[in-house]
Amino acid sequence: MPSFDAELRHRLDFLRERNLLRELRRVDSAQESRIETGGRTLLNFSSNDYLGLANHPALKAAAVAAVGKFGAGAGASRLVCGSLAPFHELEEALAAFKRTEAALTFATGCAAALGAITALAGPDDVLILDKLVHASIVDAARLSGAKIRVFAHNDLDDLEAKLRWAAGRNVENGKRKTEILVVTESVFSMDGDLAPLREIVALKEKYNAWLMVDEAHATGIFGAGGRGLAEELGVNDHVEVQMGTLGKALGASGGFIAGSRALMDWLINRARSLIFSTAPVPAAAAAARAGLQMIQSAEGESLRTNLRKRIAQFKTVSANLPPTARSMIFPFMLGDEAKALDAAARLREQDIFVPAIRYPSVARGAARLRISLTAAHTEADVSELAHVLNQIGDWKLKMKNA
Ligand SMILES: *Cc1c(COP(=O)(O)O)cnc(C)c1O
Repeated sequence: MPSFDAELRHRLDFLRERNLLRELRRVDSAQESRIETGGRTLLNFSSNDYLGLANHPALKAAAVAAVGKFGAGAGASRLVCGSLAPFHELEEALAAFKRTEAALTFATGCAAALGAITALAGPDDVLILDKLVHASIVDAARLSGAKIRVFAHNDLDDLEAKLRWAAGRNVENGKRKTEILVVTESVFSMDGDLAPLREIVALKEKYNAWLMVDEAHATGIFGAGGRGLAEELGVNDHVEVQMGTLGKALGASGGFIAGSRALMDWLINRARSLIFSTAPVPAAAAAARAGLQMIQSAEGESLRTNLRKRIAQFKTVSANLPPTARSMIFPFMLGDEAKALDAAARLREQDIFVPAIRYPSVARGAARLRISLTAAHTEADVSELAHVLNQIGDWKLKMKNA
């Protein structure tokens, strides 16, 4: 045992020396625009609870009611002990929301990516991924055993080159024996920029490929009623596999896939992260369904309006932000890991909590502060953030956003 721990200490020292060590920071309050941590109250610009629903009374009431009726735990996998009603109600609501035939929920967005990608692609197939897709998609791709090709971030020429290569392999008697699945995000989690989904759809149709779009950061924010960027760009019906999480703007936890009935039937039979995992607590599904109702309501619309106001305000008061930035995710690129840690520490000294994002969440040497604005922030909160940023801003702020 001592040598086991000594080895791990050695590895941890290696990370610390490179400014890559991560630690859990305990929070003694709910996730809101202010959090209590270490006996202090910090203004929170770290959360993906973009509409401030995680601690909303309607979501909490729905969770409490579900505990009352369905208990705390789910008993087993939904395939084993029966599938509790709150999951079905949520899936019907998700399908109606995404205007797809059906939807299927998973314990997390990570589990949704893992289950769906490994169910759809195998060793005979090709997966084509944007360079910046989420770790859960990368891990799923590796696990699937499919051939993996990565195209430069949002680069349509490179995507087409990869598609052309994939479409030309394994052809027998004029028939291609390989399926091609392109996977991208719609709003990128660490860069806050948007994928050119219309053009990507045109390319995947030209090469007869399938498309999966991870709308983790767009659901609830973009598109009519918060349906996502694919809806906003009018390509909803051309995306075979639509993915999202219930843990960000929807304020609860869980992940989902939306699409055809056939897709869901296949996933129920082949998605191992669904089949071999105990169903989430029914309270999570009930809270997510309340969140889904909320984002489609007048209140949801006014929350989005508020968020858009904060984004516009931040762009005007903070130096170096391009006017084209559209999302609520602002990466302040610092490059060096130590610089990012130092900047985050200085913000914390001023009672502002912003995470320093480092490898492996982003590439080595691409460390950044990742500021996320939410509908729960007030005008004064955003002014305070901009004031403190400008005050300690002796680093080069280089916004990368579109
Ligand atoms: C957060 C995230 C996920 C995973 O969702 P969870 O519900 O947090 O597991 C997947 N994809 C992207 C792009 C994400 O940002």
